[in-house]
Amino acid sequence: MNPFAFTQARDLDGVLAAMAAGALPVAGGTNLIDLMKEGVMAPSRLVDINALGLDKVETSAEGGLRLGALARNADTAYHPLVRTRYPLLSAAILAGASPQLRNMATDGGNLMQRTRCVYFYDVGTPCNKRVPGSGCPARDGLNRQHAILGASEHCIATHPSDMCVALRALDATVHVRLAGGTRSIPFADFHRLPGDRPDIDNTLEAGELITHLTLPEADRFADHSAYLKVRDRLSYAFALVSVAAALDLAPGRRIRAARIALGGVAHKPWRVEEAEHALADKVAGDEAFGAAADIILRGARGYGGNDFKIPLARNAIVQALGRAARGTADRGGMESGEQE
Ligand SMILES: Cc1cc2nc3c(=O)[nH]c(=O)nc-3n(C[C@H](O)[C@H](O)[C@H](O)COP(=O)(O)OP(=O)(O)OC[C@H]3O[C@@H](n4cnc5c(N)ncnc54)[C@H](O)[C@@H]3O)c2cc1C
Ligand code: SF4
Repeated sequence: MNPFAFTQARDLDGVLAAMAAGALPVAGGTNLIDLMKEGVMAPSRLVDINALGLDKVETSAEGGLRLGALARNADTAYHPLVRTRYPLLSAAILAGASPQLRNMATDGGNLMQRTRCVYFYDVGTPCNKRVPGSGCPARDGLNRQHAILGASEHCIATHPSDMCVALRALDATVHVRLAGGTRSIPFADFHRLPGDRPDIDNTLEAGELITHLTLPEADRFADHSAYLKVRDRLSYAFALVSVAAALDLAPGRRIRAARIALGGVAHKPWRVEEAEHALADKVAGDEAFGAAADIILRGARGYGGNDFKIPLARNAIVQALGRAARGTADRGGMESGEQE
């Protein structure tokens, strides 16, 4: 690991001043420190932001949910407000990582975690995301985990988060502070597609700190939601494909509104609102769900090792919507996908 300066800020101004001087914030450290140990990232300065507070999970001023950037993933998932009113978010968080990691990992850090592409982590290989212009060996190499949607000739990596898939389905907003101001970023615009700049994961500018997230009121989806994560093993594995599905059902299983977001398939959580609109007024069932899946997967392509993800994603969308239609499995937050 390269030498670096480490400071602990006591307040927001101290953090912003350190970041303006080039420091990277460290929260739970579960991703950043790994990347530094592997030599993938080599910041010369770190500022510890854990003394800032910013760890509350509470009702927002608008009646939705407000998550502090430093709320731990576990505290968020098990919070009564999240378990009862946003069970999709609870289930998605609990499908990720391990209990120990979720106790350390923060909600802000979860958004900022970097891809798990093996070449990105292997500093002995080229990688456009790590060293712009060096090439993308994943396109013709090991690409079982990689993207089937929204990729570019420069990068086919996926975003690894589970939590972010639910946040995308639930229309979250990311709130940031920078020296001298604040800014709000709709979740849809937070992560970006790789294009010709795969080294840039998201639209956060240098020096900006995530302070909190908000979610609109979503009670109408609480009774019918499901997070389905398909992975190579049941613990400690990132999604091959994941689906956050939520339905607002009228009597007779008629769909009033639907939300569907996918993880493990693109450089950002993937949501196609046209598919949700196509479900409106339909009777919940495999035929309607399959048609929605076909809209979502329009234009999907594999790179050899990940071709299987296209039919897998279709089946996962139909399955997840079917589970949502049958009713949220557990509004207590102990979804069957939880990892021990
Ligand atoms: C073995 C293992 C398995 C895992 N499995 C999963 C999984 O299955 N699903 C899943 O979703 N995740 C998984 N994770 C990833 C884990 O969820 C992330 O590492 C974690 O959420 C990152 O949060 P953190 O607080 O530790 O971030 P840190 O490591 O502290 O920071 C990560 C990045 O975010 C930046 N950052 C942190 N806070 C802020 C802020 N407030 N504003 C601006 N920038 C900020 C840091 O500068 C850094 O660049 C796994 C991790 C490990 C190690
Ligand atoms: S897919 Fe992206 S992260 Fe992986 S090797 Fe290619 S450029 Fe690097």
